[in-house]
Amino acid sequence: MEDAPVFTQSKLYERSARLLQIGRFGLTSILPVAALLLWFPRDGRYAHPPAWWGPLFLGVTGAWMGAILASVIIAAFMKCDRCFRPPTIVWDLKHRSPAAPERQAIRDFFFPPEMRLKVFECVHCGARFQLSR
Ligand SMILES: [Zn+2]
Repeated sequence: MEDAPVFTQSKLYERSARLLQIGRFGLTSILPVAALLLWFPRDGRYAHPPAWWGPLFLGVTGAWMGAILASVIIAAFMKCDRCFRPPTIVWDLKHRSPAAPERQAIRDFFFPPEMRLKVFECVHCGARFQLSR
């Protein structure tokens, strides 16, 4: 691997990536919480969850939304050292990262390769940067 320059805002990058990771785990943990509804007593079409379920659901939802929102806000403050645009934010909806096999895609969703390899690429100019330890 060639020597990429160290990204000057590595701390911000890692904070943003961590929050996004937490947000993704939180988003996923909503599924079992929502699945609980299936076990609660039903009255026709409506489930009757116990009193603790509402706050739990709202709490988990609020936590992952907050984490993802904070991640995006931090990401908006980052600037690529080369093109000076936020290196992780793309507004173009057609932008797709290269397709990965499903298992790898799932793993990358929870454990972004950038964080494992400590290297990332600016989405705008393609410059590669290392993350400082
Ligand atoms: Zn760039």
